[in-house]
Amino acid sequence: MTRPHGGGAMDGKTFDVAILGTGIAGSILGAILAKNGVRTLLVEQGSHPRFAIGESTVPETTFLFRLLGMRYGVPEISQLSTYNRVRRTVGTTSGVKRNFSFVFHRDGEPQRAHESSQLPTLSPPMGPDVHLFRQDVDAYLLGVAAARGAVVRQRTDVTSLDFGASGVELKCRDGSAFRASYVVDAGGVQAPVAKLFGLREQPTTMRTHSRSIFTHFHGVTPFDACIGPREGHGLPSPLSQGTLHHLFHGGWMWVIPFDNHPSSTNRLTSVGLNLDPRVHPPTGLPAEEEFRRFVARYPALAKQFENAHPIREWVSTDRLQFSSTRVVGDRYCLMPHAFAFVDPLFSSGLGISMGAINMLAWRLIEAKKDGDYSTERFMPIDARVKRNFAHVDRLVSRSYVAFSDFELWNAWYKIWALGTIFGGTGTLEAIGEVLTHGAGTRFEPYELAPFGGLQGSDLPEYMALFDRAAAEIDAYAEKRVSASQAAERIFAVIEESRLWPAPWGSPRARHPGVFTLPKVGPLIQWMQRDAPQGIRDAYARRFVLRHVVKMAADEWASELGYAGKLVTTLGRDFVTGYNRDWDRAD
Ligand SMILES: Cc1cc2nc3c(=O)[nH]c(=O)nc-3n(C[C@H](O)[C@H](O)[C@H](O)COP(=O)(O)OP(=O)(O)OC[C@H]3O[C@@H](n4cnc5c(N)ncnc54)[C@H](O)[C@@H]3O)c2cc1C
Repeated sequence: MTRPHGGGAMDGKTFDVAILGTGIAGSILGAILAKNGVRTLLVEQGSHPRFAIGESTVPETTFLFRLLGMRYGVPEISQLSTYNRVRRTVGTTSGVKRNFSFVFHRDGEPQRAHESSQLPTLSPPMGPDVHLFRQDVDAYLLGVAAARGAVVRQRTDVTSLDFGASGVELKCRDGSAFRASYVVDAGGVQAPVAKLFGLREQPTTMRTHSRSIFTHFHGVTPFDACIGPREGHGLPSPLSQGTLHHLFHGGWMWVIPFDNHPSSTNRLTSVGLNLDPRVHPPTGLPAEEEFRRFVARYPALAKQFENAHPIREWVSTDRLQFSSTRVVGDRYCLMPHAFAFVDPLFSSGLGISMGAINMLAWRLIEAKKDGDYSTERFMPIDARVKRNFAHVDRLVSRSYVAFSDFELWNAWYKIWALGTIFGGTGTLEAIGEVLTHGAGTRFEPYELAPFGGLQGSDLPEYMALFDRAAAEIDAYAEKRVSASQAAERIFAVIEESRLWPAPWGSPRARHPGVFTLPKVGPLIQWMQRDAPQGIRDAYARRFVLRHVVKMAADEWASELGYAGKLVTTLGRDFVTGYNRDWDRAD
């Protein structure tokens, strides 16, 4: 075990950075800072393990987990980067995400098999993605932060925060007091610092308008068993082995199974119903009853939930969207989930958080060294987080419009799928750079265009396409064109842009095929040779095929090493009845 060196001063009360909240963001940042010599205090009002939402990853998020671990020397964070790594490291309670599936429903009618679409995630070694069982993942990360040297205080209520010219005084309900040079608000929606400074926008400026009811269920039937055989819908990856999105006019539902892998030991499924209240006004019913009445309207949904029972209380929200005026202020920074939220659609929350940590961590490490915590140093994070949320809001608000017609959805979701590719491969470029240059890597370019923005939103060619497609959705919303006209025009602008990768086939198809290892080579080649100039110049230049091959070899070695260790331990237990825990090298 690396010797921890991020704890407080000798008095145990003075720190460089105090982080309020030990969710996934607070603990990852805490682990990174402590590992890199920043005296770090992590304060949590509750205690782990505890329920948390935000379970579905996307490739950009998992690549960022990988990058953070490599860049800052905390490989435990990289262990969140694929399902198999999570299974080996955190445990068997998380689920596998082999795809994003979208199934369209009509009120009172059987589901039409061909009204479904899918974007598979990557196969090993870069995937598959994961359904994080957050209570276990967050508890694991808190342990990592503590092992790396952060001082952890759970069940600690901070009752006052006093920001002065040279630092911040924290006072707690139990009478304890701490001092820190800088405070990070990682308190999620409760956001203590945002509340203290009155940073919330009232009302929010976001376009998206939705509310949510969600819980964890037992007994949800795999959707593959609720619809006809695979030949009917024609999607390549089983719908229950990924994040399933049920779509309908004015809303959508997530179904995130944790029990969808042969090694799964968790029988639960996360389910959330998200509704635009302007289309589906609040009923005033208890959440369970509202949910049951809603699914009863859609035969395939009713079937999926006929034997399902919630195993914890429902969470029923008012409007989900909130936003704030600033991310960064004098001696503080809000983590993205303390700053704003749009909607769970497309699972962008964790990606925005990891991107912000990537930008914040090195600045805090430098600030600790030179004592300069000036606000300007952190302002690029303010701009980036705001832009990322603005992009997600544009994407999601149009998606709620597209939910009303399958053809329109099938066209619009391709715009998001392209963003996923450019966002993901942009992060892979930084990973390729680290794999090539190691500690000498220059990361500054990856905060800038075309890589900096979430989901390719800093790539001019992509944003030109996005804007044109969004205009078609707006034209449909304003009843200037029909849904099929808007869909046709979106396909036309995609084709015109030449951004749709040739190895994916036609953008009009409902899915681009699976992304197994043999399919990654042609995609990389397309980016290097056949894509428009802006793509060729920036992507698949640093992260190349040999890195994929090396990652594949590492993945096999890790799995074999893991299995071998278990078999050896079992054998030893048979013979000697003990193992040598104290020899663990990690
Ligand atoms: C309904 C919903 C669904 C979502 N689904 C997804 C998804 O599928 N994929 C995705 O990427 N993102 C999703 N998100 C976003 C995701 O949940 C967040 O991005 C992520 O959880 C943020 O992590 P965090 O650590 O910042 O905050 P949290 O996980 O909320 O943790 C905050 C922690 O701070 C503690 N805390 C609060 N106040 C204080 C205080 N005053 N002092 C000390 N501690 C405090 C809390 O107890 C908690 O432990 C979803 C969000 C919502 C609302």
